[in-house]
Amino acid sequence: MNYTEKLENIKILENTWQTAINQSEMYALVMQHFYTPLPEGKKVKKAIVIGYDGCTCEMLNCLDGIERGAIKYLIANGGHGVFSYAGGAPYPEPITQDTSTAPGWCTMLTANLAQNSGIYSNGTTKEVDPKSLIIKLVEDRAIKKSSFCVSWEGHFSEEGATYLKEKDYAEEKQLNCKFLCAKDDDGTRQNVLDDLSSDDCSDFIFSILEYTDHFGHEVDYLPEKPGYMQAFRSAEQTGMDFVDAVMSRPTYGEEDWLILVTSDHGGYQCGHGGPTLQERITYIISNKEIVTQLDTLKKLSFMDNTLETALPQTVVYNILEKHFKAPLPEGKKKKKAIVLGYDGLRTDMLLHLDSVEAGAAKKLLANGGHAIFTYAGGTPYPQPIAHETDTGPGWGAMLTGLQSKESTIYYNNAVKQVEPRSSILAFVEDGLTDSTAFYVSWGGHFTEEESTYRLEKEYAESKGINALYLRAGNDDGTLENALKDVKSPDCSDYIFTIFEYPDALGHGNGFSPGIEKYMDSLILSEKAGITLLDAIESRPTYNEEDWLILVTPDHGGIGRAHSGPTLEERITFIVSNKELL
Ligand SMILES: [Zn+2]
Ligand SMILES: [Zn+2]
Repeated sequence: MNYTEKLENIKILENTWQTAINQSEMYALVMQHFYTPLPEGKKVKKAIVIGYDGCTCEMLNCLDGIERGAIKYLIANGGHGVFSYAGGAPYPEPITQDTSTAPGWCTMLTANLAQNSGIYSNGTTKEVDPKSLIIKLVEDRAIKKSSFCVSWEGHFSEEGATYLKEKDYAEEKQLNCKFLCAKDDDGTRQNVLDDLSSDDCSDFIFSILEYTDHFGHEVDYLPEKPGYMQAFRSAEQTGMDFVDAVMSRPTYGEEDWLILVTSDHGGYQCGHGGPTLQERITYIISNKEIVTQLDTLKKLSFMDNTLETALPQTVVYNILEKHFKAPLPEGKKKKKAIVLGYDGLRTDMLLHLDSVEAGAAKKLLANGGHAIFTYAGGTPYPQPIAHETDTGPGWGAMLTGLQSKESTIYYNNAVKQVEPRSSILAFVEDGLTDSTAFYVSWGGHFTEEESTYRLEKEYAESKGINALYLRAGNDDGTLENALKDVKSPDCSDYIFTIFEYPDALGHGNGFSPGIEKYMDSLILSEKAGITLLDAIESRPTYNEEDWLILVTPDHGGIGRAHSGPTLEERITFIVSNKELL
């Protein structure tokens, strides 16, 4: 039997090996757990990851040969499982990082692939950023304390270990994060059990057992090898000891536990690191349903494209340019356009427009409007991002029509030269419009010393160009400025507004539809948007004007932040009154 047949024999997983998810989704699953409201009757969120280092996927065909095990127990008791993959890219694409220990766990702990984390193989120390879940959850106040329990010294206990800098950072900042390296798996078992038996155990425990990797290197990563099969039994036993310890906690009834079992890579012959299916196909087993953002976004049935065909957010520039260059429709005398920017609004929030009484996106979609998926970060998922999924680069891509490599807007507060020009300047200078206006409240756009369009704004002012760059103190001010403009008889031909509600409330409370304050931010943004739409439609000259209306965010978010490569952060959208493709 070849390996694909062995994979197809695994009946306990909910996807296929061909649709395996990137192991980076582990990060999102943990984040999602901690940023979802507590179920009725529960008082605290907890999670444990039980890692079986180097445990090949085909071992899931051997659960009958196991008396007692964590995977066996979870699957038999309503748990769920999916195929995942190591190596950074789905089969049969070439791998972009070794199917090895450090890259595997680091991808799960940070959501980042090697091109973004620097961890291509074992023996490299990661910078503090991108931060792992161990410190991120504590630092962002999602949990009180975490522990990282291992026995391999390559994680944080020897020169070249992956998390050395992160461990130092945690100590320096006095974060409540334990980095425990035992001398072997027995020691790791004891460390985890000690933690789980304490009243106030760690809220997040990340444990890695070496049994299977150790014996795989010795005898081959095959269930037919008694040594490897025994190692799998030991891993399952110890994993089950952890699950039992969780369930016997006196306070278990009021704790909401996420339990995940996974592996960093498989193995082929007596090694791993390469691109074979044996090495790269892994799995995630959970006590809860496994719903990734991919699954969630597929529910947006009204989109005109798919996640796979999402367009770069630079397309906003092209859509606007095309609108102003196209001939006026019959009976119209003037082209107009407005962009309603919702900073940091996650795309899955479009599934919650029912909670909005009256909103711009809601109204456009209800009246024959169109919507497409776009993406931040410069590259499509699951490729590594080309720049951070942040405010500066996001709006920068839309305003200049260029990705960071050409625009140089890699970060927030990057200072762009006058060239390449944003549409605010270019459309007036090139005669596409008579006037433009850019209404914001964030200082990083053009008011601070280090801000993206400051030089462009100064240039426009010195040349007397009819482009207005106006910053208000907050979103109310932005709305007021934009409203005054659209209510004036000779309003700007092209208006770009950015509202900060979702970004501000996301950073403060968490970017997740389950978070009430973040839900409020959708309502607030939509309300500001429809106030402007209604004012536009009430213009005395509205019937002679050909308006293009776009609603779009610059990036999403996960946990209390963004800038990383997760789907939650990088998938964006455009909703419009006109056809977009
Ligand atoms: Zn490993
Ligand atoms: Zn932000």
